[in-house]
Amino acid sequence: MRYVVALDQGTTSSRAIVFDEAGCIVAAQGREFRQIYPHPGWVEHDPKDILQSQVEALRAAVAAAGVDVRDIAAIGITNQRETTLMWDKQTGETVCGAIVWQCRRTAPLVERLLREGMEAAIRERTGLVPDAYFSGTKMQWILQEIPGVRARAERGELCAGTVDSFLVYHMTNERAHVTDATNASRTMLLNIRSMEWDEELLRAMEIPRAILPQVVDSSQVVGTLKADILGRAIPVAALVGDQQSALFGQGCVRPGMTKNTYGTGCFMLMSTGTSLVRSANNLVTTVARRVDGHVSYALEGSVFVAGAAVQWLRDEMGLIQNAAESEKVAASLPNNAGVYFVPAFTGLGAPHWDMYGRGTILGLTRGTGRAHIVRAALESIAYQSREVLDCMARDSGLKPSSLRVDGGASANNFLMQFQADILGMEVARPAVTETTALGAAMLAGRAIGLWSDAQLATLWQADKRFTPSMPEARRAQYMHEWGRAVERAKAWVEEET
Ligand code: ADP
Repeated sequence: MRYVVALDQGTTSSRAIVFDEAGCIVAAQGREFRQIYPHPGWVEHDPKDILQSQVEALRAAVAAAGVDVRDIAAIGITNQRETTLMWDKQTGETVCGAIVWQCRRTAPLVERLLREGMEAAIRERTGLVPDAYFSGTKMQWILQEIPGVRARAERGELCAGTVDSFLVYHMTNERAHVTDATNASRTMLLNIRSMEWDEELLRAMEIPRAILPQVVDSSQVVGTLKADILGRAIPVAALVGDQQSALFGQGCVRPGMTKNTYGTGCFMLMSTGTSLVRSANNLVTTVARRVDGHVSYALEGSVFVAGAAVQWLRDEMGLIQNAAESEKVAASLPNNAGVYFVPAFTGLGAPHWDMYGRGTILGLTRGTGRAHIVRAALESIAYQSREVLDCMARDSGLKPSSLRVDGGASANNFLMQFQADILGMEVARPAVTETTALGAAMLAGRAIGLWSDAQLATLWQADKRFTPSMPEARRAQYMHEWGRAVERAKAWVEEET
């Protein structure tokens, strides 16, 4: 038996998962690390923590699996996206902390780009909506704010990159400065059609071309693991951003195939194949993967508050003891009795885009109880996901036959059945819900010839399929009422405080 190990370098923890040749999990280990908040709205990670937690998780997972290191055929890396680092080309020493995707410190730099009229170019070339979330202005900030860094960058002494680049540089013998096409597509610097770094955007963000990594395939050998990590030089054979990895791990390769991850928020990606679909609804266009030089694209949209609404019921309202209890409580009611909860805690995303909206519960009567609120929270996750999927369908002209799901809240059978009902579409939950790790393992196994594309297609297996059973008239009525509730949640905050 041969094995592939996926490294899943996430926002709060670094994980390592050992898969066997059948795509089954043999062992998984994770290590949490510190979140650093130097100022309000700023988020950093210590690069040493990222590296050390990842190496420890890898060693622990291989030990727990009890496999012979010689049987590990390849390693695949998937990572938190957009988080940005800069380091010395010779010594590997970082020049400052990793600026995490959530960090808002570069909002003024984004405003400057907008004032300079760069929005259309950014949207057109990168497929993204200009935001501090992406890596470009994070690199600009480091170059501008850390003393001496710009001069060193201009002398060609520094490397900039996302977490994939950083891990490859520090964990492999070759110390190549590379990034895969999916991670590159989140920098706001890559032209996603030509797949070249865009000179005009580099100029606008004052980033010297020389500090950027070479863009490579998502499925190719980029180096060999340093022998002091596991005692053997194993090929590192895949780099891929976490959401794109989950899309691949869900087997969503044909145009229209869509996955939704139900975590704190929801991340939905629809594969659009080789066509680069532009959104009229402020969804982003992203590279799904690059394999053998061929680029596939996806539309990506998110729901800001999903599982977080369930956490709110538990932690702030005390209505449930734990997230799983929400299933039983919601299912105790025959219907929602007209109660709607719009969890617009931070405003509304696609398709409404209203940052002044706030959370709202409507339709309360004297008979409304705990179960109604809990049910309304779960239903809101399904309504919001349907709205994002509707946008994708409108933008792309594609409609999936089934929605593939993963993430913590996908364990909730009530929610998944309601999602199927409200979409009028099958919802399929895979046997392996660690789809993020599986995707990276599949891309790595493929690169070294362990799996053919035909074999990869067999690795995705459904655990449970939820079939819609709600009459169309009822579905339409629910969406109509939800729409009315959303209208009432909009524009609540009169001016931003
Ligand atoms: P993240 O990666 O964003 O931390 P996870 O995929 O670990 O998220 O999922 C955790 C989220 O899912 C939490 O917000 C939690 O409230 C929610 N959750 C977990 N289990 C359930 C459940 N059985 N029903 C509803 N929500 C759940």
